[in-house]
Amino acid sequence: MNEAVLHAEVLVLGGGPGGYSAAFRAADLGKQVVLVERYPVLGGVCLNVGCIPSKALLHAAQIIHEAEEFEQHGVSYGKPTLDIDKIRGWKESISKTLNEGLAGLVKQRKVNLIQGTGKFTSPDTVAVQTENGSTIIRFDQAIIAAGSHPTKIPIFPHDDPRLLDSTDALELKEIPKKMLIVGGGIIGLEMATVYHAFGSEISVVELMDQIIPGCDKDLVTPLFRRIKKQYNNIWLETRVTSIESHAEGLKVFFDGKGAPESEMFDAVLVAVGRRPNGKLIDAELAGINVDEQGFIAVDKQQRTNVSHIFAVGDIVGNPMLAHKAVHEGKVAAEVTAGLKAGFDALTIPSVAYTDPEVTWMGLTENQAKKQGIEYDKAVFPWAASGRSLCLGRKEGLTKILCEKETGRLLGAGMVGPNAGELIAEAVLALEMGADAEDISLTIHPHPMLSETFGFAAEMITGTITDLYIKK
Ligand code: NAD
Repeated sequence: MNEAVLHAEVLVLGGGPGGYSAAFRAADLGKQVVLVERYPVLGGVCLNVGCIPSKALLHAAQIIHEAEEFEQHGVSYGKPTLDIDKIRGWKESISKTLNEGLAGLVKQRKVNLIQGTGKFTSPDTVAVQTENGSTIIRFDQAIIAAGSHPTKIPIFPHDDPRLLDSTDALELKEIPKKMLIVGGGIIGLEMATVYHAFGSEISVVELMDQIIPGCDKDLVTPLFRRIKKQYNNIWLETRVTSIESHAEGLKVFFDGKGAPESEMFDAVLVAVGRRPNGKLIDAELAGINVDEQGFIAVDKQQRTNVSHIFAVGDIVGNPMLAHKAVHEGKVAAEVTAGLKAGFDALTIPSVAYTDPEVTWMGLTENQAKKQGIEYDKAVFPWAASGRSLCLGRKEGLTKILCEKETGRLLGAGMVGPNAGELIAEAVLALEMGADAEDISLTIHPHPMLSETFGFAAEMITGTITDLYIKK
């Protein structure tokens, strides 16, 4: 076997958003960087089998729903015909464009990209299995960005192609007539949105007493009400006890509130969370502590217990979000280059790209209550937003929480079409230490959904004129 030896000032393991951002930032700071990625393309789960392809399909779903719903307002196109092969091709073309963009950025920055699976062999070396044999990389510093994988439930059958994970579901191999989604979290509900628009009858089963359990219930309720009408069933506080493969379908057994004992489905998507890849990289040979679940603990500088090895993204903890990984990747790169960087972001926003979208940042109301923090709350109903009505929608809400004593923004959340775009303003306001008055005195363009954030602040300062609130 041909065994090459390379040297890296900074070795980055994993080419997803955390890894490529770390590699690029380190290179921009003058480091000689080797980036190791097991797949032939960069971008990781997010770009290839996650955020990006799902958003492409969700856009198609949105067009289908909007066209359908606009019939009542006088615009009709008739029933859409779907060319699934073409939709899949379009989705893949977007990932390909972004893959090519990243490949270009690798070249421009002179990052040495090695395709292969890397594992630690010591605190200073990684062995990469490539197509042409093994390459040993000796590094001065390393950044682990090896990501996560979908959680599997051991008791479910593993060799039945009708049992899908998120990667399978994004492939759109078939549009099943009856589909069960196990897990009412973000992935489950986004894929439910897509398959429902493409014609599947959807049922959702969720263990907890609400969908998207991390979010305040009032923000989830408008989504819940809408999909309850669209889907066959949403079973809360219900567990799937087993799944049997039969020629005619997958027979799923339930235990919980209002669910049947069993029901037959043509396909089942399991979206019950993701597991970090900490146990797949022989981290122990480098002396890195990996916990039971596969997470690697890091400090504010993204440093592991081995001082010249850093870790970022899904592998260091929840939330498993690309924008968190990117931020952490940049911090780690800056620290490798000797800058005084640290992860000190005040919040990591969350967005479920469902219809309506649900988004939140900062403190949730549940957290504020649990922590005994005194707050003022305002909830602006989008039924009073002209723009929302022009979209044919009135179920949205914008909620803000401000510290009782100072008026400082503590948290915010929105639900409604395009709500995900609105959260960025709240994140900036939080980072800048804005209070309700700052937000209410900021002129928001009219007629836009973003006004609702200003209106919610005006409800707190008592200056709102778009609603009448009895004193
Ligand atoms: P999740 O943790 O968001 O949701 C999983 C859901 O499954 C939870 O509601 C949980 O209560 C439920 N659950 C767990 N075990 C169950 C069981 N046995 N039966 C029924 N329900 C069960 O996980 P996910 O949706 O798989 O997403 C994985 C990760 O990817 C998350 O960290 C998520 O934030 C991230 N992600 C984010 C986005 C986004 O930002 N738009 C999109 C996709 C994924």
